[in-house]
Amino acid sequence: MNLSYDAEHEVFRTQLRAFLDAHRGQFATTTAEGRPSPQMLAWQRLLIENGYAARTVPRAYGGFGADPDILCAQIISEELIRAGAPFPLANQGISMLVPTLLELGREDQKRAYIPPTLRGEMIWCQGYSEPGAGSDLASLSTRAREDATHFIINGQKIWTSTAHLADMMFCLVRTESDAPKHQGISYLLIDMTSPGIEVRPLRTMTGHSEFNEVFFTDVRVPKSNIVGERGQGWFVANATLKHERGMLGDPNMAEARIQSIITLMRDEQVDGRRLIDNPLYRDRLMRLQAQALALRCNAMRLLTAAAAGEDGGLARLVVKLEGCELNHQLDGLAIDVLGELGALYEGSAHLRAGGRWQRSFMFDLGLIIGGGTAQIQKNIIAERGLGLPREPRSVRS
Ligand SMILES: Cc1cc2nc3c(=O)[nH]c(=O)nc-3n(C[C@H](O)[C@H](O)[C@H](O)COP(=O)(O)OP(=O)(O)OC[C@H]3O[C@@H](n4cnc5c(N)ncnc54)[C@H](O)[C@@H]3O)c2cc1C
Repeated sequence: MNLSYDAEHEVFRTQLRAFLDAHRGQFATTTAEGRPSPQMLAWQRLLIENGYAARTVPRAYGGFGADPDILCAQIISEELIRAGAPFPLANQGISMLVPTLLELGREDQKRAYIPPTLRGEMIWCQGYSEPGAGSDLASLSTRAREDATHFIINGQKIWTSTAHLADMMFCLVRTESDAPKHQGISYLLIDMTSPGIEVRPLRTMTGHSEFNEVFFTDVRVPKSNIVGERGQGWFVANATLKHERGMLGDPNMAEARIQSIITLMRDEQVDGRRLIDNPLYRDRLMRLQAQALALRCNAMRLLTAAAAGEDGGLARLVVKLEGCELNHQLDGLAIDVLGELGALYEGSAHLRAGGRWQRSFMFDLGLIIGGGTAQIQKNIIAERGLGLPREPRSVRS
């Protein structure tokens, strides 16, 4: 791994700084809720046009079409954080479905779905979990029978984030009920306006409804909306999960939080002394900063491996666990820095930063579960990463 920047990359950095200075007035505020605002869509489009988002996605699919370059990727992250600029949109469509389609989709699917998804105009949700299938996802029982032209879906999904906003769902259904459970699954792209779909909100511990139950009653999906072959959805699903775990453990999220916490610690005082000068708090911050730096170095190791067409192995398997735990610890530090005001929640007149930290603390705890729980991540690291003996499986699996 070479961490130095050559003259060519320093030129890239200078151009990016000039771009960010010129467009400072267009920085849009990102919100966790709702569809992206018109300002966020305009910012996303500007980033793509200039090669600072969707940089390596081919132009034919609405990206910028550059060759992979880990130093450019690193410089983009550094400069966006430095300028306090919003990052490119990252949602289940952009970060999970797009790379899956690039890897395994048909040409017509890539052309139809990737461009509007990258622009933030087409919102996707992920229909994997069911009431009887979470960690043991392959036990899913939402079934699809077929007629000449369509799959016909019946069943239920649960914990489906953003289903209430989504245009489309990438969904796992059981197409072969007699096949062994990992082999009877297909991966379908479903229009959320199809007749027979009902979305019911579920409230999380943030107090808001970020995810949902989704019910399917005789929902008709064209056969052409399958990704990969019939019965091979488990393979496609795992390609998506790989990208989901990378998205959830993205080191940019931790680094952006650290910058905000440093500002907070400069602003907040106890007995007339800034918290940034308090050795206990500074020590705690530096420990977390060291973890974030380790995550960043690991991410560069993964990018290096990806550019060489390699998998990354253990380095990839630790990202979700480490990144999500770290984000939650950072939220906890921010709440402690706020002192007694950290115990307030939405609705209080005394909230700092609109209650952003309290809300993140609740939300990020959920992300330690979503996309595969911490316990499951540890099993994967132990078994696939470290080669330890597999845990006992039930006879059925
Ligand atoms: C905020 C959030 C957003 C989500 N968004 C989505 C979404 O958009 N789409 C979607 O499909 N799903 C989504 N999920 C669902 C998520 O993927 C599941 O909650 C998760 O996979 C766990 O499944 P489960 O809830 O059924 O728990 P279970 O699988 O029933 O697990 C219960 C407990 O047992 C532990 N456990 C289970 N098996 C083992 C094992 N073999 N070894 C050790 N411990 C084990 C688990 O770690 C957990 O603590 C979301 C969840 C959350 C919290």
